[in-house]
Amino acid sequence: MRSNHRLTPPLGTTSDRPIYLDHHATTPVDPRVLRKMLPYFSEKFGNASSGSHSFGRDALKAVQIARTEAAKLIHASSEEIIFTSGATEANNLALKGAAHALKGKGRHIVTLATEHKSVLDPLKRLEMDGFEITRLPVDGEGFVSMEMFEKSLRSDTILVSVMWANNETGVIQPIQKLARLTQNKSILFHTDAVQGAAYCVMDMRKTAVDLLTFTAHKIYGPKGAGALYIRKREPNIRLLPLLDGGGQEKGLRSGTLNIPALVGFGEACRLCRTTRKNEIKRVGRLRDCLKNGLAQKVRSFRVNGSEKARLPNNLNISFKGVRSADLFDRLPDIALSSGSACLSTSPEPSHVLKAMGVEEGFRWGAVRFGLGRFTPQKDIDRVIARFASVLPRKGK
Ligand SMILES: *Cc1c(COP(=O)(O)O)cnc(C)c1O
Repeated sequence: MRSNHRLTPPLGTTSDRPIYLDHHATTPVDPRVLRKMLPYFSEKFGNASSGSHSFGRDALKAVQIARTEAAKLIHASSEEIIFTSGATEANNLALKGAAHALKGKGRHIVTLATEHKSVLDPLKRLEMDGFEITRLPVDGEGFVSMEMFEKSLRSDTILVSVMWANNETGVIQPIQKLARLTQNKSILFHTDAVQGAAYCVMDMRKTAVDLLTFTAHKIYGPKGAGALYIRKREPNIRLLPLLDGGGQEKGLRSGTLNIPALVGFGEACRLCRTTRKNEIKRVGRLRDCLKNGLAQKVRSFRVNGSEKARLPNNLNISFKGVRSADLFDRLPDIALSSGSACLSTSPEPSHVLKAMGVEEGFRWGAVRFGLGRFTPQKDIDRVIARFASVLPRKGK
């Protein structure tokens, strides 16, 4: 099959297409990523475990390239990358795998109230299995207190899980400092870095992070591929696998590797690494433009979460007395969310904003803007105009 895909941005190129501002939920596959993936669905269909012929060896080579690129994104070595089906699986493997491997030492685990469900729910399961979970609160800006965190660590604490950047507010935790507090205490430090991966520099050579989760479809790769970084150092980190079988991924994740998705994941990591510096500036400018435009042309709102340590593509705001669900109904041409995609079927307002002490009237009105690689300035201008058309003007 010929790779004849044009490099057209997948989004926002025509005025009748809805504007996509929900990049925290998922991102479109970058056309350059797709192009790399396509041959692995057709002529290069081998199984990476089939070492006896060239089909298998070609697949293995492709996986090795993907592993190297995934490692490079976070300055790790390729032996430290375990491929999974996504971040949910990587989080489950990190948390359940570490808890069950370490329960001889202790049964206490520390996390934050504002974590993603794919961290909170595995921990709830562990709680039912006899582990003790401390869920630390956050302040009004979304940060955990360093003192409270340090005090929560005990002699029977085996594991900590704190996300790098929040998927609703974009608030970036002081991961380096937090991880350092667990060092030399033989406590494993896990971070869900899904949202930070595209924008935050992560250098595993200079951090006390032991386990780190990221996923392809939040960084312009395909759905169904993710990774768990497992620090290779003494003493060795031992995890109990979730899946047993063919022994792929060092026995930590049995099952035939999803070669096309992993090839895409690798290329997505490479593109993030090489474009990150410019992209932080570009998307940050657009986000500021959106915020300032809304502040000028639409009535006043509160910004949820710190504006200092925040992902450049995130804006989370609340208009008091306006339900975001009603707003979205009136703006069908803009793809927006009030928070986590996983929660949108349940009518509960965000557990993240609740933990930050955002009062109920504002919680129901939260609007999360997630900008992305293919968001052009004209989309932002149109979004501001559309908000101005459905919400009363400032001062009214
Ligand atoms: C999207 C997301 C996940 C889940 O990732 P999948 O690859 O879809 O399983 C986990 N954590 C965070 C912070 C996310 O935003």
